[in-house]
Amino acid sequence: MKKLANYVQGRWQEGTGEGTTLYDPVLGTPLVKVCAKGVDMAAAYDHARTQAGPALRRYTYAERAGLLAQVAQVLQASRDKYYDISLQNSGTVKNDTAVDVEGSIYTLGYYAKLGSRLVDGQVHLDGDSTSLAKDNAFASQHIEVPVRGVALLINAFNFPAWGLWEKAAPALLSGVPVVVKPATATAWLTHEMVKDVIEAGILPEGSISIVCGRPEGLLDALNGLDLVSFTGSAETAATLRQHPRIQHDGVRFNAETDSVNCALLDPEATGSDLLVREVVRELTIKSGQKCTAIRRIFVPEASYDAVAKGICEKLQGITVGDPRNESVRMGSLVSQTQKKAVTEGIELLAKHCDVLFDGRTQTSMQVDGNDHACVAPMLFGTRDPDNLALVHETEVFGPVATIMPYRDIEHAYELARRGMGSLVASVYGEDTDFLAQAAVRLAESHGRVHVINSAVAKVQTGHGNAMPQSNHGGPGRAGGGQELGGLRALAFYHRLAAVQAAPEVLARLAAQ
Ligand code: NAP
Repeated sequence: MKKLANYVQGRWQEGTGEGTTLYDPVLGTPLVKVCAKGVDMAAAYDHARTQAGPALRRYTYAERAGLLAQVAQVLQASRDKYYDISLQNSGTVKNDTAVDVEGSIYTLGYYAKLGSRLVDGQVHLDGDSTSLAKDNAFASQHIEVPVRGVALLINAFNFPAWGLWEKAAPALLSGVPVVVKPATATAWLTHEMVKDVIEAGILPEGSISIVCGRPEGLLDALNGLDLVSFTGSAETAATLRQHPRIQHDGVRFNAETDSVNCALLDPEATGSDLLVREVVRELTIKSGQKCTAIRRIFVPEASYDAVAKGICEKLQGITVGDPRNESVRMGSLVSQTQKKAVTEGIELLAKHCDVLFDGRTQTSMQVDGNDHACVAPMLFGTRDPDNLALVHETEVFGPVATIMPYRDIEHAYELARRGMGSLVASVYGEDTDFLAQAAVRLAESHGRVHVINSAVAKVQTGHGNAMPQSNHGGPGRAGGGQELGGLRALAFYHRLAAVQAAPEVLARLAAQ
């Protein structure tokens, strides 16, 4: 079976071990192997730092933006191949693959456009200078310069394409070389994209490296001027945070972790149709394997039954199974491991909540055999959300959500906060004052608030879609990280310094 080679130190290197097999989660067939055994991570980082770093930094921001535009073109040309790999390795229907593949190309294109408007050369001035002495004889100017180290990008299994480029685009635009470590289960698509970009010869040698699997020394070989941008579970983030390079040496660490996101219906229930539609969409896109997916639904007590009924009716119409089958709307989970984890999560919630829609019996599966990783949607409910901590703490990473009633709006905000920091909350209703108030209150514990009334229903970008224009990340349990949000994403890949000098020196900084 084909073993995917790693690209480090400017050449393709096959791991020296047995490797790990990647499977088709629907058919159960083995696809490719990955192996990082024997990869010298210290040499890999050194090559990226010394070869690619200086070459990337010689370009201006606008020139690097031009490189990103070319990378996007390369990916566009191989779309069909990426869709095929995603179908085989992630078990996704076409629309779900699009969220990942088209989302990645769109994000690259967005940063290419944004970067093309940056006028700075290599130094980015942060605000104006401030006087430190009489007559401005001595002053302070903040500058941002690209990080001199490498950025290690560790990604989760659910977005092998988008997860790569939403991190790599701002890093490369900033002039920072990247070393990509995709999640093993779905590493093939990431690998193929990186291979295509390397073969196109657009980026300076060493700008992008890839290791698939778990190489030894992944973090040990970093130094205090490097960065790690991590996406995955809160548990893994907690382990990585304790690594001496991060805990002791100060390697900058950004974490995007799991999250128990919510949707909130207004007290008058004027937004119930909008909420029902979005909840069903979020439950089923990528089979609920989105860190941003709606897990908790808060509705006024009087609307609990009607809203639950509306969601169940729509879920009845969802066909689940083999994405090769044209009539299937929702594909598979990515692996048997995930199926086991999601099934256990469903069993746990079923013990403590009412089962309002039971996909296990109410959904007809359109898939052959029993070896597949398909899981049908589930809607749970509890009328006592105050005393059931489980529903605020458990992220079942599949097509699973729980609906619960609130007594008054303060109670709803309190319940939302019990997620202890989430990526996104959405609000549905028609009262503009209420929507604005809810946005501000939910912002206390969410990185993004998605506010929907009927006026925006047709143009809105979706509760779960991380748009590059908006912040992606959340406080507390969501990891406390920050990604995207336009040019804000570049801050992670820059060092901020205050330069204190004579005004004539400060005036020359931008030209350096
Ligand atoms: P995971 O098990 O935490 O793995 C994430 C990544 O970390 C993978 O590349 C994994 O590699 C790597 N990893 C795990 N342990 C490691 C270690 N000790 N040292 C170095 N690397 C290590 O998460 P996952 O199962 O892939 O993804 C699902 C989770 O990610 C969900 O909880 C979801 O909410 C979260 N997620 C968050 C976001 C966000 O933007 N906030 C986006 C997507 C997913 P291997 O694959 O080789 O184990």
